[in-house]
Amino acid sequence: MNLVSLERRLREIESRRSGEPTVYLAWGRTTAEAKDALEGAKRAGAVSERDEAVALVWPDAGPVPLSRWIVFGRKHEDDISDRELEILYEANEAEAVRNEREAAAERGEDLSGLDDTDVRIRVIRRTSRDLTGDLRFLAVRENPRPEMHWAAPGPGLVRPCGCPTCQMGETSPRVVFPAYRAQFDAWLNRYVPSEGLFA
Ligand SMILES: [Zn+2]
Repeated sequence: MNLVSLERRLREIESRRSGEPTVYLAWGRTTAEAKDALEGAKRAGAVSERDEAVALVWPDAGPVPLSRWIVFGRKHEDDISDRELEILYEANEAEAVRNEREAAAERGEDLSGLDDTDVRIRVIRRTSRDLTGDLRFLAVRENPRPEMHWAAPGPGLVRPCGCPTCQMGETSPRVVFPAYRAQFDAWLNRYVPSEGLFA
């Protein structure tokens, strides 16, 4: 995944929502813990009701990140880890899908035939200022490239990697790439058939 691009998009989302590229991240091992962390920050006066704040579940092993304010932008990119950004991005997306479904339901519109990806694309089509770029970004995120060894390491002639997993086909582009390409094309045909995104 391209984290620079992810970070830029998050910043756009945040600034569109609040005018301020800042957000308070409250972390917990569970939804209840994360919500408690957010409530605690509000009681302590670190966060007000007007502030952009989000309760996030840390799903990984290892220590839970510190709950804190984050400012997006080039000068602050070390303030948040790639994994935190990823989880924040997914939470943003999930919220956008929820809001879209709720707003549609209030208008009496039936979205039950759309899966979450359809709804995300619907939101992108309505709000994007760079439709092709945003659809491409989603397509790449939804279809991460599997690990492939394109060549043996070292100088000299490029030759196929002969490591054990490549011999098994698990990391060999000759085996993995066609399968990946087919999966990607199927995704494009399913969700954005007439967009010609990667033609
Ligand atoms: Zn290999």
